[in-house]
Amino acid sequence: MRKYSNELKPEEIVEIAGWIHEKRVHGKLVFLILRDREGFVQITVSKKDVDEETFKIAKKINKESVIKVIGKVRNEPRAPNGIEIVPNKIIVLNKAQAPLPMDPTEKVPANLDTRLDHRFMDLRRPKISSIFKIRSKILNFVRDFFHKRGFVEVHTPRIISTGSEGGTELFPVQYFEREAFLCQSPQLYKQILMASGLDKVFEIATYFRAEEHDTVWHLNEITAIDCEIAFIESHVDVMKLLEELVYSIIKNVNENAEKELKILGIDEIHVKSPFKKISYDKALEILKDLGLNIKYGEDLTTEAERKLYEYMKEEGYDLYFITDYPYIIRPFYTYIEGIESEKIDEIVEFLKENPFVKTRSFDLDYKGREISSGSQRIHKYEILIASLKVKGLRVESFKHYLEAFKYGMPPHGGFGLGIERLLMQLLNLKNIREAVLFPRDRNRLTP
Ligand code: ATP
Ligand code: MG
Repeated sequence: MRKYSNELKPEEIVEIAGWIHEKRVHGKLVFLILRDREGFVQITVSKKDVDEETFKIAKKINKESVIKVIGKVRNEPRAPNGIEIVPNKIIVLNKAQAPLPMDPTEKVPANLDTRLDHRFMDLRRPKISSIFKIRSKILNFVRDFFHKRGFVEVHTPRIISTGSEGGTELFPVQYFEREAFLCQSPQLYKQILMASGLDKVFEIATYFRAEEHDTVWHLNEITAIDCEIAFIESHVDVMKLLEELVYSIIKNVNENAEKELKILGIDEIHVKSPFKKISYDKALEILKDLGLNIKYGEDLTTEAERKLYEYMKEEGYDLYFITDYPYIIRPFYTYIEGIESEKIDEIVEFLKENPFVKTRSFDLDYKGREISSGSQRIHKYEILIASLKVKGLRVESFKHYLEAFKYGMPPHGGFGLGIERLLMQLLNLKNIREAVLFPRDRNRLTP
């Protein structure tokens, strides 16, 4: 029965509900701009058309109160979208207090902290809710994308006993009489599942990272699209899948979120395919030519990422892979090139002597920021043990993970793609906090 503001046709009697976005009183006329999920519509309350009680309500009601209106739709060229509703009845569902903690009409701009403190109200702005409508569409599309390709959706534990990325940056939690942690990523579990025969899995996962960053592109709680595939030849297979995923997400947003993009002032999201691919070595060369020296075996700095994007942009690329990183800057589970030995001691020695040995790894950068990391993984038990040791991790803590590598683990690989990072770069948001409803950062635990 209830209609949205974008579904109204002249001469219909309709019921509509929403918030009072604006109110203007001109003597015997009250104009209410009602806002609902889909837009705005003018409610024209004339003293001659309605009973005294309804007119009084319209005149007195505070902005942002919630009302239901039953009335007739009429053409009105002077109204915001060419129509108005002449009400028979206005029912106040709930009054809003005054003054408001922030102005949802944006006439008085609020800073990000104020907006996040009153997020429900911030979300009343179409520009803000559009971000989350796009996010929802992307996730729906992603599920479909993976299902169509034979992936199984999984859920792995959020409470864990060991970190996956090295032991630091974990949030401890009290787990009965033991200490446990919030998971940094589903990494170890999705790998274990490769030994299960499920073969291709994906998870829309939450990562908890106790990093003390205070940047506009880090959060302490994020959502990521994680996947893992067995029987790959190399990381190139994984990159192909990631590229197809990101390319089709962008295509899908362009095709199915036109309205939201328009509200955000975006015509069309640009994407050039195939994505550019360069090795870590090549990236360092390019940066050197641009006057930036990165010491071999160090990660690209923020400055380097920015400079690299300037270079890529010249060639028309917003999205590009950086591949084949040296072992020293990749996680312990990353596939290492050229290891023939099956003796743990020999492998340890080799890795200690060759910290810069190449790995089958990649990052996908989007407009100068990493949005995804992935790799082929080590699937040989002995190499994995050696790598844990070289990275200074306790083999004992990884007992259950390691067991999966002893009784038939196929070659495999995968990636993690941060949704907030993706959205941020996709929609040119200045702060990653804009891409999550209730962000968690060093200083923010509420709302
Ligand atoms: P960075 O170096 O940019 O902090 P990372 O290399 O530590 O990220 P990964 O462990 O590779 O992150 O996680 C995979 C993806 O998850 C990243 O590419 C990114 O999109 C997202 N991600 C990871 N940590 C964060 C974070 N703290 N805030 C926002 N997104 C994150
Ligand atoms: Mg990474």
